Amino acid sequence: MTVTVAPSPGFLDLTSAELAERMVADGLRPAHAGALWRVLHHQFETHLLAREDLEPPLKRWITAKLAGEFTHITPQIASHIPSADGLTQKLLLRLADGQEVETVVMSYTGRHTACISTQAGCAMGCVFCATGQMGFVRHLTPGEIVAQVLEAQRLLKGLGLPGLRNLVFMGMGEPLHNYDSVMQALRIITDPRSSRIGPSRITVSTVGVVPGIIRFAAEQQPYNLAVSLHAATDAERTALVPVNARWPLAELMEACRFYHSHTGKKIFFGWTLIAGRNDTPDVARQVAGLLRGLSAHVNLIPLNPTEKFDGCESADSAADGFQKVLADAGIPSTVRQRRGIDVAAGCGQLKAAKKRSQD
Ligand code: SAH
Ligand code: SF4
Repeated sequence: MTVTVAPSPGFLDLTSAELAERMVADGLRPAHAGALWRVLHHQFETHLLAREDLEPPLKRWITAKLAGEFTHITPQIASHIPSADGLTQKLLLRLADGQEVETVVMSYTGRHTACISTQAGCAMGCVFCATGQMGFVRHLTPGEIVAQVLEAQRLLKGLGLPGLRNLVFMGMGEPLHNYDSVMQALRIITDPRSSRIGPSRITVSTVGVVPGIIRFAAEQQPYNLAVSLHAATDAERTALVPVNARWPLAELMEACRFYHSHTGKKIFFGWTLIAGRNDTPDVARQVAGLLRGLSAHVNLIPLNPTEKFDGCESADSAADGFQKVLADAGIPSTVRQRRGIDVAAGCGQLKAAKKRSQD
């Protein structure tokens, strides 16, 4: 496994207030900060110095910063693959140090959602997930996370489509394992000066990093929380999600209760349905027991194929039966629409795709 260091800080790592503070400290006017912010976050400019419309003092400042302490993260689009139905677009972004991450843009009748990556690879090792199968490479910086949103916006703009409405942090990596960078990126993304994507339209999904959930709750983070559960007993969960050995179900559910009592918010539980393994009515009854007392919504995700896991997706009838047991226990659920499977942009398929497209 290659572990590389993250690149030096860039303009996209800063909130509008942080950027303005630095610029004013260097003798520029707040209006210069506003102009730079617009160029970065509204016009999605990648070549700052090529801009003719920036005032000379601002251009000089940018030039000096780029020569010194800052970089401007401009990931290259290594590939852009639309699915056959045109409803999913997968962007493979090459970062400054050559690492590659994927961002997926999904279209639902007039609305667009981007699925954002938070790490190159993932340390959590879930056996059915392509990102987990590749291991951990490195954390992404806030700017690299922000850049994915900007690239997705640029893509939609280029196609003449409206901008993003929702974001899900369900791409490569475990967001709460890279807590500080993810929260900084979210501050930048939801800055009223940068976008119209409010916190209630953003969901952060975790495999169950208990200290991260507690911190997220204690800090009253305004984003939605999703917890990927997949199994209702420790033995079965540890087999699928090895970090369960570190934060077993009892601790995870206690953290979820803490979140609920602290924020009053609903939790979205992710459940990847694997035929014959976690899709039976008995298992559904166990899930209902685990979630009792919480305000929960269960997202059932049909298993997508990955190279190193030979489980099969559940039959529709099993998914229906599972949903019925949950409904009888008063727990709402939805079966997630499958998206972008032909270009390996579905849940848990990220990264494996690249290898396959090169075969
Ligand atoms: N690390 C975070 C977020 C990224 S994974 C987490 O695990 O929650 C996003 C979702 O995709 C998770 O719910 C995960 O369990 C699911 N997933 C992973 N591999 C999958 C696969 N092969 N098929 C379907 N869903 C999968
Ligand atoms: Fe990491 Fe989430 Fe994949 Fe598990 S499912 S390996 S936590 S990205």
